[in-house]
Amino acid sequence: MPRILFAAGDSRWPTYEAPLKAALAEKGIEAEIALEMAPETVDYIIYAPGSPLQDFTPFTNCKAVMNIWAGVEAIVGNPTLTQPLTRMVDHGLKQGMLEWVVGQVMRHHLGLDIHITTQDGVWRHDTTVPPLAEDRPVTMLGLGELGMAAGEALARIGFPVTGWSRSPKESDLITTLHGAEGLKQALSTAQIVVLLVPFTPQTENLLNAETLALLPEGAVILNPGRGPLIDDSALLAALDSGQVSHATLDVFRTEPLPEDHAYWAHPKVTVSPHIASETRASTAAQVLAENIRRGEAGEPFRFQVDRSRGY
Ligand code: NAP
Repeated sequence: MPRILFAAGDSRWPTYEAPLKAALAEKGIEAEIALEMAPETVDYIIYAPGSPLQDFTPFTNCKAVMNIWAGVEAIVGNPTLTQPLTRMVDHGLKQGMLEWVVGQVMRHHLGLDIHITTQDGVWRHDTTVPPLAEDRPVTMLGLGELGMAAGEALARIGFPVTGWSRSPKESDLITTLHGAEGLKQALSTAQIVVLLVPFTPQTENLLNAETLALLPEGAVILNPGRGPLIDDSALLAALDSGQVSHATLDVFRTEPLPEDHAYWAHPKVTVSPHIASETRASTAAQVLAENIRRGEAGEPFRFQVDRSRGY
C-alpha cells in the first residue's frame, strides 16, 4: 500500500483530502495518506512551495515529489532533492489561466476601464473606438501548457497572436518564433505582451530596458508568469516615459508585494495578488492519482521536471 505524505501545507489539506482519496479510489489504489509520516516509509510527497519541508534527505524510499503548482523555481534547485520531481499540468490550471489572460486582454483591448471607473453622469460617447481584435497584435512569451492554450484562445477570438518559446513550436492558429532573433521579432509588433515563461536563470529580466524598447510605443504588459521575468526599474521607467501604457502584474519578486512598493500607487499599474490561475483540488487530484498509479506500475511519471532546464 503506497504511503503518501501531504506536505503541500496543512491549510490545504481540508480541500484536498476528499478529492485525493476519491481520485485514488477511482484508480483502484488503496493508499495511506497523511500530514505526518516517518520519512523513510514515505513513497510519494505531495508538495507546494512554502512548505516547511525543505530537507528531502531522510525520504530515502520516496519515488516522487509532486509539486501542485506549475512553477517549480522554489524547489528545482534544492540540493537535497534527488527524487524525481513532477509539476502540475491540469485542466483547471490551463482553463483558469486562459480565462484570466483573455479577460485581461479584453480589458485593455476594449478600454473597459473608462466606463467602469467613471460613472459620473457624463455621456462619453466620444471615447476612442477600439480597433477590432484582428488589428491588435498580441505576443505570448512562452508557448507551454498555459501560453499555448491562452494564445490559441486569443487567436480564436481574432487577435493576430505571435508566440515565442525556447524550442520551435507548431500551431495552426498562431505564428511561432523562438531564439534571440525570434524574441526581437515577437516584441517588435506586440501591442499586448503576455509573459508565461517559467522563472529560470535564462529568463530572469527577460523584459528589461533593452527588450522593452523593442515594443511599439504604448504597449501593454500582462505578467501572470513570475515576478523576476521583469526588471522592475526598467518597467517603471518605461511606464513613466509612455513606452509602456499599462502593466497588469499578478506576480512579483517579493510576495506579498511590500506595502511601500512603487507598483501599488502607480496609476499605470494594476496589481493582482498571484491569483491568475489557482490549482483546483478537484482537477489536480486526478493528475496526482494518475502519477501515483504510474509510480506503482513502474511507468514513467507525467509532467516530470527537467532539472537541467529548470522547468
Ligand atoms: P511550461 O509548459 O513549462 O511552458 C513554459 C514555456 O516557456 C515553454 O514554451 C518554454 O519553451 C518557454 N521557455 C522556457 N524557458 C525559455 C527561454 N529561456 N526562452 C524562451 N522560452 C522559454 O509551463 P506552463 O505550465 O505553461 O507554465 C508557465 C509558467 O506560468 C509557470 O512556470 C509559472 O511560473 C506560471 N504560472 C503562474 C500562475 C499564476 O497564478 N500566476 C499559475 C500557473 C503558472 P519550450 O516550449 O521550448 O520548452
